[in-house]
Amino acid sequence: MKSYRKELWFDTKKRRELINITRQVAEALRESGIREGLVLVNAMHITASVFINDDESGLHADFERWLEGLAPEKPYSLYQHNGAEDNGDAHLKRTIMGREVVVAVTEGRLDFGPWEQIFYGEFDGKRRKRALVKIIGE
Ligand code: ZN
Repeated sequence: MKSYRKELWFDTKKRRELINITRQVAEALRESGIREGLVLVNAMHITASVFINDDESGLHADFERWLEGLAPEKPYSLYQHNGAEDNGDAHLKRTIMGREVVVAVTEGRLDFGPWEQIFYGEFDGKRRKRALVKIIGE
């Protein structure tokens, strides 16, 4: 069995951004040479997510509004976690959007359903953060 590891780094301009990382994950898969197996992609931070959904701008606006409804960024006093930090909302957003995805690898390709794309969801950005890509198989 082969394995391959790669880190993807991000430095978002905004506090919250959704970034389509499908191309970078497919590139890591090519580099790995693995034809049959599994790809794991996980955020390496507890205020960011990796998830699979549609790359459609209306849906991304809906995610923003929905998450702000569930866990608004402000007022910062809303969260017991805030004090030295102001990212209580980002921890909650990350939890509901998920930490990681697993995608099957078939004949050297990401074996997606229709419209599936992989996203890095940043909820406390404007600094360097990363996601892990781990690929196993043969
Ligand atoms: Zn925190």
